[in-house]
Amino acid sequence: MKYQGSCHCGAVRYEAELDLGKPVISCNCSMCGRSGGLLAFTPATGFTLQSGEDSLQDYLFNKHLIHHVFCKTCGIKPFAHANAPDGTPTVAVNVRCLEGVDADALEVNKVDGRSR
Ligand SMILES: [Zn+2]
Repeated sequence: MKYQGSCHCGAVRYEAELDLGKPVISCNCSMCGRSGGLLAFTPATGFTLQSGEDSLQDYLFNKHLIHHVFCKTCGIKPFAHANAPDGTPTVAVNVRCLEGVDADALEVNKVDGRSR
């Protein structure tokens, strides 16, 4: 299904094709544990950034593999992107930024990113 997502101020908008019938990911790594996003993944081909490319600030840490982007104006992290282990460009969408999605109603899979 296609979902519309945005940051808080609305500068960053996107459309993402996601299967939210599958559990979303809650990760406890040093980044996700602080920002508290819930993530659903899609190949980059299922993701369209509609506006806000200039508003996104990239942030890299650890092995610099994942682009943790955030909006320069409102600070929200509406998604992150990286290459999957098999090399496929992949987007991790923060389902809390999607319109019409009750994040509390989704099944959550806890991932122990801190210990990796
Ligand atoms: Zn914003």
